[in-house]
Amino acid sequence: MARAVFAFTRDLRLNDHAGLAAAARHGVVVPVHVIDPVSAARLRRSPRRAAYYCAAIRALDASLRARGSALIVRRGNAGPVLRALARALGAGVVAWSCGYDAKTIRRDRDLQSTLEEAGLRALPMHDGPAIPPEDAAAAHSRGDGYRAFVPYHARWRTLLPPQDAGSASFAAVEIASEALPIPEEFGSQAPLPGDAGEDAARAKLRTFLQSAVLQYGVARNVPAARETSRLSAELSFGTIAAREVVRSACERAADPFLLAEERASLRLYLRALAERDFFLQLAWYNESLAEEPLQPKMRRFAFARTHPHLDAWRSGRTGFALVDAGIRELRATGWMHPRVRAIAAAFLCFDLGVDWRIGRDEWDVYLVEDDPALAAGNWQWIAGVGADLAAYPRIYNPVKQARRFDPAAEYIRTWIPELAGQPDVAILDPGLGGREQQLPLPLFGTRSYPPPVLDHETAARAFLERYAREVRTPA
Ligand SMILES: Cc1cc2nc3c(=O)[nH]c(=O)nc-3n(C[C@H](O)[C@H](O)[C@H](O)COP(=O)(O)OP(=O)(O)OC[C@H]3O[C@@H](n4cnc5c(N)ncnc54)[C@H](O)[C@@H]3O)c2cc1C
Repeated sequence: MARAVFAFTRDLRLNDHAGLAAAARHGVVVPVHVIDPVSAARLRRSPRRAAYYCAAIRALDASLRARGSALIVRRGNAGPVLRALARALGAGVVAWSCGYDAKTIRRDRDLQSTLEEAGLRALPMHDGPAIPPEDAAAAHSRGDGYRAFVPYHARWRTLLPPQDAGSASFAAVEIASEALPIPEEFGSQAPLPGDAGEDAARAKLRTFLQSAVLQYGVARNVPAARETSRLSAELSFGTIAAREVVRSACERAADPFLLAEERASLRLYLRALAERDFFLQLAWYNESLAEEPLQPKMRRFAFARTHPHLDAWRSGRTGFALVDAGIRELRATGWMHPRVRAIAAAFLCFDLGVDWRIGRDEWDVYLVEDDPALAAGNWQWIAGVGADLAAYPRIYNPVKQARRFDPAAEYIRTWIPELAGQPDVAILDPGLGGREQQLPLPLFGTRSYPPPVLDHETAARAFLERYAREVRTPA
């Protein structure tokens, strides 16, 4: 019987799997995973990411064993490793799922040429997004992807719901595997999470869709609600298919007994999933996205590489409570609420005027998610250099944002214990006066929570003046 090799990358599951289904059309599938230098470097950056990944690999291997097979693990460059394995197994086809960030795209290209030069059939498949980039871009005039979200979203909705891609049957493996990866291999001491893997991801989705999704319209803005789906790590490691998440949300939306607000919440949730596909296709068609602003006019605009208060931002001690709470949530858990991400990132780019790449790289060390394409797209968007085509940068007032989205300071108190015993007004209204007036408040002391490191209005105005000078009316 013919055999096909399938190399798992960031698609660590067996169901609704475009790559596995494609490989299965060429024979019984031999499941392989190569720990190559590109992915190992990303795992070394974030200890929690490494722990999640190792647990997900274990879960995948256990699922394969339950089907009479097992994962063959190898370490090294994907091209030579997979070429040698395919030859040893007598397989004529090697399939895998495409990556979307520049480094992975380059790795995939090298892999494809190594395999094809050896006379093997290479099958890179789109599995990460719910709707593959080319499917959405087919109707686009230039055929090279969308740079604006609104028209992309309009097109994306016409392609719903995505069909289940199918799965495969697997070969019993006669070739020995190297050891499964463990977090220590990537310098991580983080404990293995018990709930990584496909079953856990699906259970998390089911729980979210039962009720929390119906309040998503509120939860996406209110960090204290703790009720967004928190599926970003699962989606980035592919322990669940974006197709399945989108399809399940579409099915939930078909419930005739939903109230208008609940239906609106489901629409907003689907919109968030469309944003994910949007940023993946943006990176797919614009390989320089990781380093270069998408907007040509912003390529000359120099953000600062450092700032006297950069370390305060990094450590959650800017004195702007919502910004600091977000950073501390990230450092403590490996995740930050999406609304707070936007506010904390904008503070770095506009109040401090610091380069978005510095913020992105800083957060990368803590995030469990492994999605450089989404990180670059979102950071560029926030910094006003990417796909957001607003005429002026969207500068948030972090104090007003806290009053609006954390009105009882519940989220802030959770992550800033120094403020736990303070009244709401002291936390949410540091603007009772200037910085000097805040210093005498018992809230601020040398060993407790700091006063704001700068005056937001002054910093925002200075940034906008510079922007107007250099970008709106260039010399
Ligand atoms: C400055 C900044 C940096 C970010 N960096 C990353 C990153 O490194 N990796 C990453 O995966 N996400 C990133 N995001 C997007 C988003 O904030 C995270 O995916 C977040 O974890 C979503 O939380 P959730 O899973 O509860 O999402 P929900 O709100 O429940 O949304 C469901 C899913 O939709 C997708 N999604 C939601 N919002 C976005 C968005 N703005 N862009 C792309 N996809 C989205 C995510 O996959 C998410 O899991 C960033 C956002 C900002 C503003």
